[in-house]
Amino acid sequence: VSHSLVTPGASFSARARRAVADGELQLALRNLDVRLRTAGEFGARHPDLKDRAAGIRRETLSDLDGWLDTLQDSLEAHGAIVHRCASAGDARDLIVGIAREESARLAVKSKSMATEEIELADALEAADVTTLETDLGEYIVQLAGERPSHIITPVIHKTLRQIAAVLADEAGAPLPVEREALTAWVRDHLRACFLEADLAITGANFAAADTGTLVLVTNEGNGRLCTSLPRVQISVVPVEKVIPRLTDLAVLLPALTMSATGQRLSNYLSLMTGPRRAGEVDGPERLHVVLLDNGRRRLLGTPYEEMLACVRCGACLNVCPVYRQVGGHAYDSVYPGPMGKVLTPLLSEGRRGRDLPGASTLCGACTEACPVEIPLADLLVRLRADLRGRGAPQDAASPVPSMLAAHHDRRPGEGFPWPASTAPLRLGTPAGGRARRLAFAAWARLWSSARGYRATLALARTAARVPARGGWMRRAPGLHGWTRSRDLPVPAARPFRARWTARATGREQW
Ligand code: SF4
Repeated sequence: VSHSLVTPGASFSARARRAVADGELQLALRNLDVRLRTAGEFGARHPDLKDRAAGIRRETLSDLDGWLDTLQDSLEAHGAIVHRCASAGDARDLIVGIAREESARLAVKSKSMATEEIELADALEAADVTTLETDLGEYIVQLAGERPSHIITPVIHKTLRQIAAVLADEAGAPLPVEREALTAWVRDHLRACFLEADLAITGANFAAADTGTLVLVTNEGNGRLCTSLPRVQISVVPVEKVIPRLTDLAVLLPALTMSATGQRLSNYLSLMTGPRRAGEVDGPERLHVVLLDNGRRRLLGTPYEEMLACVRCGACLNVCPVYRQVGGHAYDSVYPGPMGKVLTPLLSEGRRGRDLPGASTLCGACTEACPVEIPLADLLVRLRADLRGRGAPQDAASPVPSMLAAHHDRRPGEGFPWPASTAPLRLGTPAGGRARRLAFAAWARLWSSARGYRATLALARTAARVPARGGWMRRAPGLHGWTRSRDLPVPAARPFRARWTARATGREQW
C-alpha cells in the first residue's frame, strides 16, 4: 500500500482525520451517493427473498465442513484439482509452487479479495511471475501502487482526473479525462495480455457443492477472458463461499448484485464446472481450486459465525456514515467498512484492527442494508467488549470470554481432513487503564440503584450549567472527544419524573 495513503502503525482516528482533510478524496467519495440509494433495495423490494438468502447462508454454515466435502467431491469428479489451505502462508506457497511447476511467466488476475487477503501478488512477483490485475478498478489501483479501498469498487477513492493521470503515466502520453476514452484505452492495452498469459488467478463469488460449479460475477468480462484463455487456472475460494445447490443462485445472485450495484444481474455471469473437456475450444487445461480457511472455520459455533454468511456485496460500506467520510484506506485492511471492522480483528485473532470496531456510530444502517441479515451492529458491540476482555466473566485458564469458549464444544474441525484449529478465539486480554475500569465500575454501581441514578443526574444537571452557553455545552469535562465535533444540550432544569409527579398529584397544571 502506498505510504501516502496509509501511515504504518497509525490509529484509525489518525488515518480518518487525514482522510477527512483530503479534499480530492472527499470529492471522489461523493460517487458513493449513487450506491446509497441501491444498497437496501434488495430487502425493500423482495423481503421474502432476503429471508430466503439469509436462510441459505445459515443452512450452509450449519454444516460448512459437510458442504465443503461435497464440493470437493463434485469438483474432483469434474477434473478439478482441489487443495485445502489452512493459512494465508500455505495458500501462497502452494500457488507459487504451481506457478513454478507450470513455468508461468505472466498471470492475469480477476478481482478477488481473498487473493488480496493472502497477499498473493507480492508472493508471485517475488517468484518472477508478473501479475496483472484485469478488473478496471483493480488495474488502476495496481498501477498506482495502492490497495483497493472498496470490496466492489476498488478505485472509489480516486477522482476521474486522478485516474486519467495514473493511466497516462502508463500510456506514456496524455489521455483525455473521459470515462469512455480511458476505459477504451485500458481495454486495448489489456487484451493482448490475456492472449500472452499462461496462468489465470480468480476468486469465486460462490461455489455450488452439488455440481462443483464455480460462479464468477463481473461487469467487465475480464473474469470470462481469464477463465477462457490461459492454459492453467487457479481459483482461490474462501471456505464460506460454498453454497449447497446451484439452484440457490436464483436467490443469492440478485441478493448480491442488487445490493452491490442495483443491477438485477451483472453484465457477465460465468459458471465453470471443471477444466476444458475434450472437444471444447476454450477453458484451462488444468483447474486448481484452493479452498482457503485462514481463520474462518475457527469462528464456527461462536456468535461471530454470522460473519461467514457475508456475500461481499459492499452494501454495508455504501451506507456506513463513517466509511462514506473516510473511504477504505483509513481502515488499513483488505476488508474496510462495517464488514471489515468485524472481519479484520476476527481473522487476525485480534492482532490487527483492534480499534476498528470502535469506528462506528452503531446507527444500524449496515445491518439494515445487509441482504443476508448479518447483525453487524450487534457483532460490533460484542467485539468491542471481547477485544477489551470484558465480554463475559473470564475463564480462569483462558483470556477468552467463557461465552465463546462454551460454543467451542462443537469442534468445527471434526471429520475434516485438514489441519483444523480447535483453539478458542483469543481476541483479547483484559485491557484499559485501572482508572478507566474503576470509573466504569463506579458508574455501573451507581446506576444499579434508583437512588444512585437520580443522584448522578442531579449532579450532572448542576455541573452542566457551568460550561454551558445558550443552552448548549461546547466542551464537557471528561467528554472532550465527544464534544470536539458536536455540542451537547444542557439537561433540563427539572427532571421529567419531577414534573410528571407534580402534575399527577395536582400540584401543577397539566
Ligand atoms: S456484511 Fe452484508 S452488506 Fe456487508 S458486504 Fe457482507 S453481505 Fe454485504
